Amino acid sequence: MTPFELMYQLIIIGAGPAGLTAGIYAKRYGINFLIIGQILGGTINEAHLVDNYPGIKSISGHQLTKLFQKHLATKIKQEQVEKITKGNSVQGQIFKIATNKGNYQAQSLILALGMKIRKLDIKNEEKFLDKGISYYTANNIRQFKDKTLAVVGGGDSALTTALKAADQAKKVYLIHRRDEFRGAPILIKKVKEKPNIEIIYQAKVVGAKGKKLLEEIVLDNKKEIKVNKLFIEIGGIPNVHLAKNLKIKIENNFIVTDKNQATNIAGVLAAGDMTNNPLKQIVTAAAEGAIAATSAYKYLKRLTN
Ligand code: NAP
Repeated sequence: MTPFELMYQLIIIGAGPAGLTAGIYAKRYGINFLIIGQILGGTINEAHLVDNYPGIKSISGHQLTKLFQKHLATKIKQEQVEKITKGNSVQGQIFKIATNKGNYQAQSLILALGMKIRKLDIKNEEKFLDKGISYYTANNIRQFKDKTLAVVGGGDSALTTALKAADQAKKVYLIHRRDEFRGAPILIKKVKEKPNIEIIYQAKVVGAKGKKLLEEIVLDNKKEIKVNKLFIEIGGIPNVHLAKNLKIKIENNFIVTDKNQATNIAGVLAAGDMTNNPLKQIVTAAAEGAIAATSAYKYLKRLTN
């Protein structure tokens, strides 16, 4: 393939709920589009239980991704985007995307890159990664039977992980830096009612100890707790680095969009967790993807008129 040989009307970057839904809508609009996404489903793959997606009472994040993909029925390029640049051609403005495997170009873009996990940045975090410390819960929770686990965080992810782990574990410590959770009241209520979850408020995990595997965590009040596993569930950082090159407006690390999911750059839309919209849920990411595809369709129509 010669560099930038392939030209699309629209390239969607990201294959989570926002990107996949944008694809479903782009197909309905008859747009010649491509989806590039390294991880199919994005971070929802790690959600063991999704119980707030309308019409589906309860489903795993992984299964819901499969349903989205099946609905989309379009091949996704599982490649890592390395650079996005803006240029001009005879057709007008074009966006060039370089991945680890190829080069693509499009007249419009939807950025739906989601977030990357936030690390706790404590001593020995790297040393015990996958040796007791992890950033998501495994789907097979039977391995937690009779174990003592700790979860750090105060949002929906930490609360759901604590609840999931407590179904099998002997004891779960839920450690939060404030005295109030930010997660959904229904989850907080469930956590408080679970007899084997002990909530430790106003505490920070500052260290991890062990020989080869994690054995103990250290809190900022110097208390040491013996645990078999520590789940770090403290939210994410939007993947906005690729947007910076295009001079897209970013505030507090989130891409600024209007109600049509348009950014400050003509032809570039953004959707999902990386935008400045207030609710970060699968249903809102999907809705933003649908709106972004609709805006792309209108933008492309204007180009040809
Ligand atoms: P989040 O809502 O951003 O919460 C992150 C939590 O981690 C906060 O409680 C925060 O504390 C704490 N935190 C952040 N940095 C920390 C640090 N350095 N040390 C200690 N604690 C730290 O993230 P999330 O829980 O991953 O959720 C992300 C989004 O996905 C949310 O919008 C959530 O509603 C959604 N989600 C939904 C579901 C569901 O609906 N089933 C499940 C999972 C996630 P403070 O509160 O003090 O800031």
